[in-house]
Amino acid sequence: MKSREQLHRPLNVLTALLLSLVAATFAASAGAQQTPPCTVKPASIPLGQTVRLRCDVPATSARLDAHPSARTVRLFKQASGDWQGLMPVAVEDSSGTYPIEFLAADGTKLASVNLTIRKTIFPTQNVSLAPQIEALHSTPDEMKTLTTFRDAVSDVKYWDDPLVAPLPGCVISPFGVKRLHNGKPTGEIHAGIDQRGAPGAPIRAVAAGVVKIVQPFNVLGGTVAIDHGQGLETMYLHMSKLNVVLGDHVKKGDVIGYVGSTGRANGPHLHWVVYVNGVPQNPQHWVTLKSCAAPKKKS
Ligand SMILES: [Zn+2]
Repeated sequence: MKSREQLHRPLNVLTALLLSLVAATFAASAGAQQTPPCTVKPASIPLGQTVRLRCDVPATSARLDAHPSARTVRLFKQASGDWQGLMPVAVEDSSGTYPIEFLAADGTKLASVNLTIRKTIFPTQNVSLAPQIEALHSTPDEMKTLTTFRDAVSDVKYWDDPLVAPLPGCVISPFGVKRLHNGKPTGEIHAGIDQRGAPGAPIRAVAAGVVKIVQPFNVLGGTVAIDHGQGLETMYLHMSKLNVVLGDHVKKGDVIGYVGSTGRANGPHLHWVVYVNGVPQNPQHWVTLKSCAAPKKKS
């Protein structure tokens, strides 16, 4: 005959198991209810697009280590009391899941949130250029002006959502395509988009900002570049006439110039670029535009 103790032992084990299960369930639900101090939006993104960073705690920078480039961007305190920043995913980044680490001013890690970068295929496109147009090259001074603009990140936020289209025309050539000039690979990607526009059509600032470049370039033609603040910049090329001066504060929708075909262009159009913390981003992620390509018929 079994003793009372022997009979009770399995019951005790079962009770202990049940109790630990209940405790674990409570712990899990408590953890799920606790909102993380920082978020990334979206959590999964194609190459060439921008991740919005947001923290309830004072995070002043965030770091993404998506091979081959580790990238650190600044976050800024907003009027709403939180901290926000923009993390660009470059066309040359590797797909995969990577943590974005949020850091305080003293380097303390405040949060780590995973970002999934999706595989993205960019097509190849050939551009026919007249020999004298193809031969145009940037001078070292021009390169320096562009790099200085691209690398600057200013503290004041002038821009707000949504951005407006600089021109109503459809998109002739999308962002990210691998470019060939007269059939020869250039090793360059199309770092902006080309929009159709009649010669002389007005071009508008996509957001408020400060004009940082107004000048003709060999390759880019008549150019205006605007710093919208806190890591967002735009640049408008090949213009026939420029309608702003250096240092101008423009509002969203202000006319900054007119469509032309100056520089390395094979006809009148607007090429424009979005830089997020110095990295070219897909403008069609920021502004809704139609493609000029006829929709494919179902056969
Ligand atoms: Zn272009």
